[in-house]
Amino acid sequence: MAESIEFVPAEYSHKTQPESTAQEMLRCGPADIDRLADAGLPFEVRSGVRHFDVNDLYNLGMYSGRGNTQPELAFRMLFRFAGRPVDDLLREKTWDFKVTLDCVACEGEAPWRFAAPDAARFGGRVAGGQAPQASTGSAHYQAKVTTLGARTPLLSAQLRRLTRDYLDSGYRWQMIPVAMQADYELVHALGATSCIAASLLLAERFRSAGYRAEAKRGWFCGVLGGALDLPHACVEVVDDDGALKTVDIAKAQLAARLSPDTGDFQELCLGSIYNKVIPSTACGNASFGQHECGSRQPVQVRADIRSMQGS
Ligand SMILES: [Zn+2]
Repeated sequence: MAESIEFVPAEYSHKTQPESTAQEMLRCGPADIDRLADAGLPFEVRSGVRHFDVNDLYNLGMYSGRGNTQPELAFRMLFRFAGRPVDDLLREKTWDFKVTLDCVACEGEAPWRFAAPDAARFGGRVAGGQAPQASTGSAHYQAKVTTLGARTPLLSAQLRRLTRDYLDSGYRWQMIPVAMQADYELVHALGATSCIAASLLLAERFRSAGYRAEAKRGWFCGVLGGALDLPHACVEVVDDDGALKTVDIAKAQLAARLSPDTGDFQELCLGSIYNKVIPSTACGNASFGQHECGSRQPVQVRADIRSMQGS
């Protein structure tokens, strides 16, 4: 299975997962791991144990074709919703939205910058959500966020063609570290793609065609009971009718790959909005949170987003 994916290049790779985790994720034994390492799976030996990058393990599992690896099972669960009637994705939905910001190598009290949910951009609303106060180490944000869905498909023939060209060009969706995704030319040069990288490239193509477009980050919620630990981004573009539309290019691609009965959902991704996505104010390659203490270590952002009862 090592031939079918691109490994994360050394400059973006963080080999934090021990061999035991690799065996668990891939449901395999030591001999299989030896074979993968021989076939090029990058590793580092620490205290006599091989360690691997979590993205590499995820992608190996996802494209193994075995059917029983953890990544395959997770994605099948995750995208079950995409094969159901899409009406459920169009109704109003309220989320209990909590985020913790951790400045892991904090250098002292300073203001925070947090790219808050911006549901109003697409007809939703946010209640609460006070900006985090200046502090040391960590900060919290909490709000009730209401999202909705609407069928607003892309009208421009040119935008639809550019989107279709991208989907048909055969880039392979992979888990890719966020820092590497910002280098979207590298990602696509490897034949790979992922949410942020795809959105950055497609936004650029939309702009080259004369449209106002920008890749924006957001949160993809309501799967596995909470927020998915999968960076979400989509392209926002002003269509020929003057309305702001979203193109969720990577979700369309993933749904197509995971199961053929997701046509309605794939179409929804091309201009329409659906209630599982909370837009933020962050640009495609920006972090959700920053601490102005002077530390060079990135702030860790952990989201806990749950569907409110009865919504
Ligand atoms: Zn700090």
